[in-house]
Formats: sequence, structure tokens, C-alpha cells
Amino acid sequence: MTLKEEIQRRRTFAIISHPDAGKTTLTEKLLLFGGAIHVAGAVKSNKIKKTATSDWMEIEKQRGISVATSVMGFDYEEYKINILDTPGHQDFAEDTYRTLTAVDSVIIVVDIAKGVETQTRKLMEVCRMRKTPVMIFVNKLDREGKDPFDILDELESELQIAVRPLSFPIDMGERFKGVYNLYRNGLDLYQPGRQTVTKSVSVDIQSPELEEHIGESLSAKLRGDVELITEVYPPFDRQEYLDARLAPVFFGSALNNFGVKELLDCFVEIAPSPRPVQAEERVIDPYEQPFSGFVFKIHANMDPNHRSCIAFVKICSGKFERNVNYKHIRMNRMMKFSSPTAFMAQKKEVLDEAFAGDIVGLPDNGNFKIGDTLTSGEEIHFKGLPSFSPEMFKYIENADPMKAKQLQKGVGQLMDEGVAQLFTNQFSGRKIIGTVGQLQFEVIQYRLLHEYGAQCRWEPIHLYKACWIESDDAAQLADFKKRKYQYMAYDKQGRDVFLAESNYILMMAQQDFKNIRFHFSSEY
Ligand code: GDP
Repeated sequence: MTLKEEIQRRRTFAIISHPDAGKTTLTEKLLLFGGAIHVAGAVKSNKIKKTATSDWMEIEKQRGISVATSVMGFDYEEYKINILDTPGHQDFAEDTYRTLTAVDSVIIVVDIAKGVETQTRKLMEVCRMRKTPVMIFVNKLDREGKDPFDILDELESELQIAVRPLSFPIDMGERFKGVYNLYRNGLDLYQPGRQTVTKSVSVDIQSPELEEHIGESLSAKLRGDVELITEVYPPFDRQEYLDARLAPVFFGSALNNFGVKELLDCFVEIAPSPRPVQAEERVIDPYEQPFSGFVFKIHANMDPNHRSCIAFVKICSGKFERNVNYKHIRMNRMMKFSSPTAFMAQKKEVLDEAFAGDIVGLPDNGNFKIGDTLTSGEEIHFKGLPSFSPEMFKYIENADPMKAKQLQKGVGQLMDEGVAQLFTNQFSGRKIIGTVGQLQFEVIQYRLLHEYGAQCRWEPIHLYKACWIESDDAAQLADFKKRKYQYMAYDKQGRDVFLAESNYILMMAQQDFKNIRFHFSSEY
């Protein structure tokens, strides 16, 4: 296969959802279709759970939450599929945001009864920012839920994107008969309790055959629904989807393995292959011969006895090869890798080559940070996703005076991994950790102890937001920093950050210092 063909057949995406909508279940079913796992899993056995979600970390086992993000690659027909798993728990939202920098498209799972939930809304904002094409799977049609047309309206207004159903349910709950495939114009029949599509027949919507399969009243209803869809929605336009202006919608039940193949078959056909990536210097085309890629995730300590990590690299262009020298741009150093790993659904294996769109795991002991670029030699820097202002803040203090060094090292490495954000007060030098949620503080404390032998203590600090500040008016900036000296901090890159105690104080500051720009994310 040529380089172009290899890259074109790749589909790298993430499945995102509010917890419990069915992301894990859908992932398992996709793996099943890809032949990547063999246990049909209406019931999630531990075995599948283990491979379908990564649980290398002890803490994750304890809490049963998918803390980590992992990658599952498999072949399906002529396509190479890479699913990037994301932690469902909202406290790890930053991890999910970063994963979204490494995908070419996204599938959003929504529960038919619950509709669009908070986490879905937030993640969609990130997709919109990055113009990532999204497809939506409305799940749990085997249960009673909202009217499908109402759900379509809700998706459109809540997610702020035009939608176009490409399948449509025939009834729901206990009466759920299946979905009409609007993409292929076929009727897919469903028998409750079965784990695969029991019968997939191509029936034209106007054909009298329809009645034979689903009876008179449902046929009439379906014809009405389909007519309404064609009246209300313009014909599906793939370009609109690729431009992230239109989200195709599928209905089904992941648990019952229904509607999943319809989704997958359409997905591989219309979802984008690796897309050009904007680096600071120029746009990098995936089909360029020279290799380039960036680190979007660092996965720590598969083995707690050795401080080893895996840096996850998304390949942006060309071909990556084992034992070939590549340039680590930040360190200005050539490096080669003797045991890079490919993530196949059930195992990690050493790879000899990988292509744009793929994710490669590079064993590492401290050379990589989130956002690092590797290339065949060219000086390019990929833009990561900016850090957002954390929601929660605490002082981190050393609880074991004998282990100050370990604590410092641990905090430094955990921050490089992107576990949370570190700010240093410019006046007192005290260190402040900012997170999205409480659980992150617990993870940090746990990992400092288990991986570094360091003990930390949290002390309260009441802050509302962190804002990155800048100004062309040097005098005003100096004046501001002088007046607010107790609330000025440095971020990890040494940039000025104002830690506002309340919304009111922030508003006053914005009013009084008109020449200062306040940013709520680290890139502006
Ligand atoms: P996640 O948190 O989004 O990964 O959700 P899971 O895949 O773990 O699913 C949450 C719960 O919903 C589990 O108990 C699943 O068995 C259940 N579930 C998933 N899909 C369906 C479905 O199609 N129908 C029904 N009735 N339950 C489902």
C-alpha cells in the first residue's frame, strides 16, 4: 500500500458522552464488529471492561472510574480504526479536551431519555472550537424516552449544530422494532434480546413489503416520519458534516447491539481520514513524506517500581519508523525509539511503522511533556489546546519534611503530564494547584505517595478564577501587578496570572484597568 492509501484508510476518533449514556457499551460493540474482541457483551464482563477501558492505574481500579485515556486500534473492512477512549468523569475533563486535539472526528452518545446533558454540552464546545466533525448516536431506544423529533430539536438547539437523521427508530421501549436506515434506505429489524441485527433487509419505504415486516400502523407511521424528515431536513451533505456544520444522527441501542453496525458502516464511509494540522509555522498536510507528530497525553507508571511513562504521540504527517532518528524540538535533540508501541484493542505491541492518523506509544522516563513535537528534522511546533482557568484551587504543602525533593519532583512531573495546573504565587512563592474537580486533588495526593513516596497536604485558598493577563501599556501592567501583588502568580511557563477571589473583584479589575486584557485560557 502507498503512503497515501495507508493514511486515507485511517479513521481516528473519540467517543464522548455524559457518564452513563453508553460510551463504554458502544465502544465494546464497535470492537466486536471489528473482530477485536470476541465476547459478545450484553453483560460487561470484567475482561472486556479491562480492555475496553484502560485501567493501568491502581486508583482507577479502586474507584472504577476510567481515569485514563487509552487507544484502541483495529481493522474493519479496508479501514484502520483508532478509537481514543476518554475518561467519563467530569473531573478529568482536561484530559478529554487534550484527547480531542488528537482526533479527526467525534461520535457523541446521547441517552434518549436524558437528552443533552452538561458534559455533552461542554465537550461539544471544544469540538466547535476545533471544527471537529461530529456524529451523534442516540442510545437506549429499547427504553422509553423522548420523542425522536424532540430529541433532534434538542440536539440542534443545545449543541448548536444543524442535525440530519441518517437512521430513524421504529417505535421505542418494549415496542422498539428497529431503525430505518435513511443512509442506505434499508429496514433493519430488531428482535429484543438478541445481540446482533437479526435481519437486515432492504425494503423501500413505499414498498408493500414494509407492512409484512412491521405491520400496517407502524408502516404508516414510519412513512409519515420519513416524509416529515425529508420535508424538514435538507438532503445529507457530506461536506457540511466534514466542515463541522452538520451532525448526522443515528438511533439505536448499544446494549442490544442494535443500530451500531449502521452507525459504523456509515461512519467509515463518511468520516474524515487524517486532516491537515495547523502548526505555528505552517499547515502540515498528513500526506507529506516527512514524519511529524505531537504528544497529547502521558500515561504514567504502568509499573510503580520503575518511574516509566508512555508518551502518546499523534502522528500528523508521513510515516513513523522504529529505530529511526527523530528530532525532539523542545529539547533540540535527536532521539530514536527501539520499542514504540501500537495500541491494538486487546494488547500493546511493538510496531515497526505507523502512519499519519495513528497513535504511537513511546516509552519514556521524563523526556516528554504534553504538547512536545517530534519531526524528521523540521522546526515545527504544533499548537495544543490551551489550558482553561481551573474551577478549584488549593495550596499544596509538604507534609513530610524529609521528602521535600520527592514532592517537588513529583509535582513537576505530574504537571508535565497535565494532571492539573500549577501556579506559583509571585509574592510568597507558595504553590497553588488548580483543578476541574475534587477528584483530581485525590489523584495527585495518591500518586505522589505511591509513585514518589512524597506526602502532601492541601490548604484552602478561596479563588474564583485564574486569568492570564497581558497589556501593551507597560506602566498600567506594572501598576496592576503592584496593587494586586498578593494575587499575582506565575503559571508553569512563567506567564503572569491574576488569581481573582471573586467575580466582583474580577469585574472591578477589568473596569479599573482598561488597558489590560484578561484571558480565561492560556492561549490568546
Ligand atoms: P458510559 O458511562 O457512557 O461509558 O456508559 P456505559 O456504557 O457504562 O453504560 C451505562 C449503563 O447504561 C450500563 O448499565 C449499560 O448497561 C447501560 N446501557 C448502555 N447501553 C444501553 C442500551 O442501549 N439500553 C439500555 N437499556 N441500557 C444501556
